[in-house]
Amino acid sequence: MLYDYLWSRNENRKKLIFKILSGVALGGVGIILVLTPWHFVPGIFFDTRSIILSISALFFGPIPAITAMIITGIYRLFLGGAGVTMGVAVVLFSGTTGLLWRYFRPFWKKKNQLWELAAMGLVVHIGMLCCTILLPADVKDETLKNIAIPALFIYPGATVLLGALMLKQAENWDNKKAVKFSEKRFRTIIEQATDALFIVDFNGKILDINLQTCKNLGYTREELLTMKITEIDIHPDDEKLKESFKNITTNESVTFESVHRRKNGTVFPVEIKIRIINLEGLPRVISFVRDITQRKQGELELSRERIMLRTLIDNLPVTIYVKDAECRKIIANKADLDVIGAKSEDVLGKTDLETFNNEIGQRGFLDDKMVIDTGVAVLNREEDFFDVNGIQRWLLTSKIPLADENGRIVGLVGIGRDVTTQKKDQEQILKLSKGIEQNPSSIEITDLNGIIEYVNPKLCETTGYSSEEIIGKHARILKSNAMPEDTYYDLLSTIGSGNVWKKELINKRKDGSLFWELVTLTSIKNDKGLVTNYIAIKEDINSRKEMEAELINAKEKAEESDRLKSAFLANMSHEIRTPLNSIIGFSELLADPDFEPDQKAEFIKTIVDNGNSLLVIITDIMDFSMLEARQMKIRKEVISTKTLLNELLHDFGKKACEKGIELRLDRSLESSDVMIENDSFRIKQIFSNLIGNALKFTHKGYIEVGYKIAGEMIEFHVKDTGIGIAPEFHQAIFERFRQVDTTKTRKYGGNGLGLAISKNLVELLGGRIWVESEQDKFSKFFFTIPIHKQ
Ligand code: ADP
Repeated sequence: MLYDYLWSRNENRKKLIFKILSGVALGGVGIILVLTPWHFVPGIFFDTRSIILSISALFFGPIPAITAMIITGIYRLFLGGAGVTMGVAVVLFSGTTGLLWRYFRPFWKKKNQLWELAAMGLVVHIGMLCCTILLPADVKDETLKNIAIPALFIYPGATVLLGALMLKQAENWDNKKAVKFSEKRFRTIIEQATDALFIVDFNGKILDINLQTCKNLGYTREELLTMKITEIDIHPDDEKLKESFKNITTNESVTFESVHRRKNGTVFPVEIKIRIINLEGLPRVISFVRDITQRKQGELELSRERIMLRTLIDNLPVTIYVKDAECRKIIANKADLDVIGAKSEDVLGKTDLETFNNEIGQRGFLDDKMVIDTGVAVLNREEDFFDVNGIQRWLLTSKIPLADENGRIVGLVGIGRDVTTQKKDQEQILKLSKGIEQNPSSIEITDLNGIIEYVNPKLCETTGYSSEEIIGKHARILKSNAMPEDTYYDLLSTIGSGNVWKKELINKRKDGSLFWELVTLTSIKNDKGLVTNYIAIKEDINSRKEMEAELINAKEKAEESDRLKSAFLANMSHEIRTPLNSIIGFSELLADPDFEPDQKAEFIKTIVDNGNSLLVIITDIMDFSMLEARQMKIRKEVISTKTLLNELLHDFGKKACEKGIELRLDRSLESSDVMIENDSFRIKQIFSNLIGNALKFTHKGYIEVGYKIAGEMIEFHVKDTGIGIAPEFHQAIFERFRQVDTTKTRKYGGNGLGLAISKNLVELLGGRIWVESEQDKFSKFFFTIPIHKQ
């Protein structure tokens, strides 16, 4: 009992004074034991002090043991008698043995403690038997004989019993302490728990709570312990909850969400885990309540975010989908489903191969696999496919690998933009732009200020500007001054008022040359009806205009021809009638016998002359017709210029002489001669025409014929000092029926064919003819022919 109450549970036991006091108490016990001895012979008695002292030393330690040994020893001395020496020795021996045991076998309690006690008891009491030596000799043997058996068997047993008793007592105390400690620890844990705790009975009365419960609800512990759980828990579906509790058995737990109300009336969401436990033999409900306000808020935010994200994904005009590592679609937004034309259950959980089951599906699947296997994204790739209605569509697809937090690829995210409309628009634009590019008309687009923004290749071809040169310039770069200014005012006001302007315009090329175009100018309006640009479509009407001009020319020529023909006919009737009249008149006179032969010879000459004139006219007409019909043949022969010119001078010499005009050869040529290989007859004919004309239109002065060599050609000339020709007629006189002045010609006669024939003949022989002249001064006709005609 001393050990139990004074020692084991006392915190002061380590203090010296307490140790001494304990020793005193133990000494007291020793004295009591000494007082109740077993009297063997007077003065010699035995008691159980050896047991108490050895056990005390073993359990209490040196100070209490030594104190007890001193008190007990002194008291034994005080009692005296024959056994006093032995008695004191036993006291000393048993206490010392206990102490030695304590020091040399400090772990005796750990194992075989009963054997340890027995061993110590045996040692102590063998020692006690040995102490009998200190007894007087007469009683020694007798005593030893009588106490040997109990000392060796009973006293060690008693030592074991007392030790065991004290050990048990200590163990009990340790257990109690442990229980108390664990209770305290448990309570601390419960109190420190972040979850609120309720223990309630089956009527809902709150039996226990923890600190967190008070914190959560704002009630004090005392208040809560008078309340019922139903005052706190306001589960929206209470009945249903109660129903679910009915089936709970011990060791099972149920988790559910509910709402708790605080003292101030506010409520908050909680997660409750309840369990039925057996508490002190009674069934109780223990519930752990967790405030899930934050979690709920988080969940709410998460779900709101999810809804927002889903709404966003679903309403984005791009297709979005997610595929897992096996290329199965796990998310598909509305646009994706719309594009495929399927319901979510038709595509989710399936690969492209399973969804489409065709070549497109296979392509998509291989693509997905490639992205997942290699981790390389596919970006902005154009894919075409046929939707459920069999309409071809185009998607601009990107597939991006999806990695988990360890960087392992677990799928892919696909984003696709339906570019069908753009694609069709593009095709349309391409068609239109090709139409414009390849248009046979020139097309030009300007901004509202007339700055050129676009020209097609035809415009470049027509104007000679490259597109780089002309783009950015003002449209007036093509403007010529050939059109009246009014045209441009009209143009601007027409397109300014939104109308189409269509007119023929003369424009200017890069090289400054002018050309005709039929220009249609109109405005381009945007979707809002605002004019953004002007477009000019220009049709090349140059050849038409040229044709028109040619037609006009031809018409004019035809009219002139007609006029000339009339003049020719009038001339002809005069030219033919005059000699014919002479011939007829003089022929009649020949028949008249009244005329003398001399006179008749004169008449015959006149008739012959007029006949020749007529022949010349008819030959001219014949020649001209043959030239026109390209029937004239050339006869090549070698001719000497000397011979040719001498013959001509001879032929016309007489007539010149008659007219009093000098007909001469160019003086520098008098001794020279050139051999020509050409048609001498036609050369002579040309000369005849030229000299004939010269004689006709010259009244005084001279006529000179000559030539010079110019390379392969010989250049002849016939110069006269006659009436000359006005410059405007230098070309025209070579045209058929052309005469400088019809009235004058009348005076000089002629049919207007001579020079036309000469020109044709010269060209036929391979040369050309022209005139140099000054009115009233001279005329000099030139013609060239090849010296050797091919
Ligand atoms: P025609 O028979 O009228 O002479 P041509 O064809 O020979 O026809 O000449 C055409 C015209 O050219 C003549 O009518 C004349 O007006 C002019 N002409 C030709 N030769 C001369 C000349 N040597 N001097 C002045 N005018 C000439």
